[in-house]
Parts: sequence; structure tokens; C-alpha cells
Amino acid sequence: MTTTTLPVAFTPSDELLQRFDVPGPRYTSYPTADRFVEAFGPDAYRQALRQRAQGAMVGGAPPLSLYVHIPFCEQVCYYCACNKIITRHHDRARAYLDDLKREIDLHAAELGAPQPVSQLHLGGGSPTFMSDAELAELMQMLRGAFRIEAAAEVSIEVDPRTADPQRLRNLRQMGFNRISFGVQDFDPDVQRAVHREQSFELVQALVAEARALRFESINTDLIYGLPKQTPESFRRTIAQVAELRPQRIALYSYAHLPHRFKPQRRIAAADLPSADQRIGMLRAAMAGFIGQGYVYIGMDHFALPDDPLAVAKRMGNLHRNFQGYTTQPDCDLIALGVSSIGRVGATYSQNAKTLPEYHDALAQGEFPVVRGIALTRDDLLRRAVIMALMCQGRVDYESIELAHLIDMRAYFAREFERLREFEQMGLVEVGEQAIQVTAAGWFFVRAVAMLFDRNLHSDQVRERFSRII
Ligand code: SF4
Repeated sequence: MTTTTLPVAFTPSDELLQRFDVPGPRYTSYPTADRFVEAFGPDAYRQALRQRAQGAMVGGAPPLSLYVHIPFCEQVCYYCACNKIITRHHDRARAYLDDLKREIDLHAAELGAPQPVSQLHLGGGSPTFMSDAELAELMQMLRGAFRIEAAAEVSIEVDPRTADPQRLRNLRQMGFNRISFGVQDFDPDVQRAVHREQSFELVQALVAEARALRFESINTDLIYGLPKQTPESFRRTIAQVAELRPQRIALYSYAHLPHRFKPQRRIAAADLPSADQRIGMLRAAMAGFIGQGYVYIGMDHFALPDDPLAVAKRMGNLHRNFQGYTTQPDCDLIALGVSSIGRVGATYSQNAKTLPEYHDALAQGEFPVVRGIALTRDDLLRRAVIMALMCQGRVDYESIELAHLIDMRAYFAREFERLREFEQMGLVEVGEQAIQVTAAGWFFVRAVAMLFDRNLHSDQVRERFSRII
């Protein structure tokens, strides 16, 4: 199997970073969620579940991935672009749990015997808005309806401000074996400017406790491009994160879209770093983490060399789903909770985005799916190419041609034409048998993948996405 390895100290040039400082999809799905349509509703979703259940009966369905969205947060972070509900009323979690129970039961009824689950993730919002008793109840509900495998990855996003060592012990006891801390930036000025104050010492103590509790993987999320951030201040955060030595680091670029995300209107545009400063921060992060021995996985992710993600990267076995890069082979994703997006067979679907709409559907015994898409042959083919690029950095023509009964060069004549420019920039090698993303190309793999996206025809469409580096 061909693999792509990066020279340890490789980082891209400023010229390339500037050239690709443009919006683009993250390709956690293809087609991207903006292509979903309302014509795909609860009936179509039920049909997809039934087809899966039939496949499972004849032994053809791989284990499931589960995602549960907990939308509540106590206070708003001004950079937030998530679907969340800001409230201090913790009793709202109780009613939400009842709705989740209904949604889980609906799935169990369609899927039949408890289906094996190899990956479970609780995200938000802030899952730790719920009390430990409520989280334990949720885990019990899930275990009642699904068969969570002994080796399953069971992960939770933790807002450090809502956690203490006892909380982490309780989470470990509930079966969580992976934990992700939202850090974003440790600089006090930046934290004040985004309304999210949490000290380095707090996160340090939690990471130490998580390590003592033998969580198999600790992740920290960072964001660059925030107000009051400078390359110098961000370098300090990078050094502090490297000192914590999490197995994985996710580094996201802040997209300032105040017309779309109301909390961002509290951020003064004058406080935002310039384009040059943002590139300086990205460069500092890449050099800092790679210099500290982290492997650049692709897009926004770094991992320690012995982490399963880094191993999968070396072996050409990476996959991608709504949680980003994963070691789990492609599998159906059952997404529970308000606004969550799932994948069943050749379909994607999304739940209602508001709590009343979500609740009403479930109260009537209906799946709360409000939109989705059934993939066409062309979608499936382009998804295969895009995921091969994003995950393996390589597209072998023969495997695509055999699976999709096409001639690569004829079907994608326009795309091959546009690949030439990328080849001249040294980002890809277009060979007789395969397209290979180069070491430099890994940093811009989203841009390479975008060439194969049929739906990105206008700047207006592209502006809906975050920046690609
Ligand atoms: S960034 Fe996370 S914690 Fe902050 S408001 Fe948004 S969902 Fe809640």
C-alpha cells in the first residue's frame, strides 16, 4: 500500500498559505449539508433504516457509529457557530432526555435486535451541561437499545469550566474512554474577548486526571483567528498545549460570519487579526506541533506518532466522518438529538434544528428528520474520490473504475485539466495509475478535493464554508 509521509520539519510556504486562505467545505460528508433537501423526510429515513435492518439480518451491515447532540450551554462563547441553546435552567436537560429516549426507541423498533456499535460520541453544545446522573441515564438508554462493543471508542466533549476530577472519574466509570477538552486559546485577553475564561491550570489539572484515569485518548481543540490573538500570543498557547501533550490536537480556523451567527456580533472586527497574522499563527502552530513530534494528520488535525490516527495515516487507513478523521472504517452513523446529521446507507439526513420542532415530531411518534439526501451514482463516485484524497492522499484509478464502472480520465476530464495547476504548484502528482497528493499538498488537501465537488460552482456557494487552512 502506498503511503505519504511528511518530512518532520516540513511546513508550507507563505505564498501557498496565502493562495489557499479561502473558504471551502470540510468534507465530513459529500455532498455537503447545504445540498440536503426537505423532500427527504421521516419516511425516506425510515426506509433507509429498514434497508439497513434487512442487510443486518443477512449479516451484511457493519457496526454502527452513534452521535448524540446535547445542545445546552450555560453561557455563550462569542465565536460560536454551533447549534446550541444558552440556558442556566438545568431542568431543561430532563425534558431533552425524555425526547432522546423516544428517538432511541424509534430507532430500536426499526433496526430490530440491538445493533453492534463501534463508536459513540457525545457532542454539543456542552454534553457536560447534563448532570452525571443524567449522563449515566443516557448511557444506560443507549446500552439498552444498542450493543456497544467492548473495544468501542466512547468519547465525550468536555467544557473544562463544567468539569472537575470527580466528574472525570464518573465519566470514566460510565464507560467513556476518550475525552476532548475545548481549549481554543489560553491567553487571558483572548479569553475575555470571546467570553470564555478558563485558566491553563484548570485544563492542566483535568488533563493530568484524565491521564491518571487512563482515558485512551485526550484531545484538545484550538482556534486561530480569534479577536486579540497575535502570532506571539498564539505561540504561547501552542507551547502550553504541547506541554500538556494531548494525543490529538484539533486546530480550527475561526470564520467571522456575524450575519449568520448572532453571538459573533459581540466580536469587534477591529480586534480580529489581519490575514497575515492568521497565516503567522497557522505557521506557528504547524512548526510548533510538528517540531514537538506531532504528526500532521490532514486538514486541522495533529496526533502523536503512536496514536491510532497517526498509525492509520502511515498505513493509508484513515477514514472520515462527521467527527472528522477516524480510524473506523466507513459505517452508518445514527445521529440523535436536535440538529444532528446522520448517514444510513447511501443517504444523509438531518434532524430539526429547533427544540420545539424536534420535540413535536417525537411526541407524535415520528422521526424528527427535516431534510436529507439520497445519493445519486455521481454523488457516490465523487464521494469515493474526495474521501480517498482526504484520507489516503491518493486516488487509484483502477479501484474507482471497477467500483463505479467509469473511465476516470474521461469522466473527470475537466477535473484533470484543473489538476494541472495543482501539479505545477507541486501539490499533486498525476500519474498513469493514480493521483498522489504530495507532502506539500497534504496541507491543502481540501483544495484538491474541492476540484471534484460538483456543487462548488460559485463564490457565493463557497462563502458558506470555513476557510480551508
Ligand atoms: S462554543 Fe461550545 S461551549 Fe461555547 S457556546 Fe458554542 S457550543 Fe457552547
